Amino acid sequence: MWCTGDSVNRGLDRTASLTCEQNALRHCQAPTHTPPSSVRMELVAPPLLPSDLAPQKPVPVAIRRRLPEWLKVQLPTSSAFTRTRLLLSDLRLHTVCESAQCPNHWECWSKGTATFMIAGDRCTRACGFCAVSTAKPLPLDPGEPERVAEATRRMGLRHVVITAVARDDLADGGAAHFQATIAAVRERNPGIVVEVLTPDFLDRESSLDMVLDARPEVFNHNLETVRRLTPSVRHRATYDRSLSVLAKAKARGGPGLATKSGLMLGLGETLSEVRDAMIDLRASQVDILTLGQYLQPTRQHLPVVDFIPPSVFAELKEQAESLGFVHVASGPLVRSSYHADEFSPAIPPSVTDQNS
Ligand code: SF4
Repeated sequence: MWCTGDSVNRGLDRTASLTCEQNALRHCQAPTHTPPSSVRMELVAPPLLPSDLAPQKPVPVAIRRRLPEWLKVQLPTSSAFTRTRLLLSDLRLHTVCESAQCPNHWECWSKGTATFMIAGDRCTRACGFCAVSTAKPLPLDPGEPERVAEATRRMGLRHVVITAVARDDLADGGAAHFQATIAAVRERNPGIVVEVLTPDFLDRESSLDMVLDARPEVFNHNLETVRRLTPSVRHRATYDRSLSVLAKAKARGGPGLATKSGLMLGLGETLSEVRDAMIDLRASQVDILTLGQYLQPTRQHLPVVDFIPPSVFAELKEQAESLGFVHVASGPLVRSSYHADEFSPAIPPSVTDQNS
């Protein structure tokens, strides 16, 4: 059977020769598709970027490497996955789970959780690692905050993670939209823990304040990689700007705010560089750290240089804890929002009152 899903609907005929089973690993939306229970993640689709955008991404010349055993995941068969998909589709919401081709997509959706991606699905940046589409963004959808709030309610989430594409085209970088979304989520979901994963807002303090005024419990901004590799991995973002954003968020967010950041490993960094990055994050008062394996979404993205074994992730977790991070998630499949609800900061009563 040929896939009749997302890629074909978008007119990207490069995927036309894929079987439906293969397309499942690219998060096929075909209504007739039933995910197989034992497909392994090394089956991946060809590039999906529209040809007019491809030149903006680095085009590495590399053979895609086979995944080691520890990165092969069994796809669960669960009606919860379908329920989550239908709910998100019904409310016309984007998730980073799909847009970034997260390898935990099946697991998280089968558990009834997802990470909402607001402000559209077109990013104004073109980072070499990221599968989110780069294109001229559409205007913000003023109904989106309420729909995120409703999805949160229907899914029964007690900890919601909200992220957004970088909107460098907007004067506030999309900060007011974050603020409106947090407010709407709180209104419909009393007592919920809100975690935001934001772009750098070009280090604009007014934008940062807008987000922080909505009182998220966790402010996350990813450093993504070590200092040396940042120029080749991230587009427009800088290492020092990200550290500055994190330090300012901690200083301006008050005692109820936990700050969080993450690194992808396997891009060619050394362990000593990772340690330096962890030290820099602690110097910016970051509380929570995530470390995960970078996986190349398509052949047009940066290649994987190393597959880091689980034992090294375990060692790095120990190092990070000894540096003072209060919570560390470190493992090959860890992503910023993976099992995010395992850390919910203790919220001082004064902050709880303001949020309820
Ligand atoms: S780890 Fe985060 S982005 Fe990935 S599927 Fe789970 S919730 Fe979505």
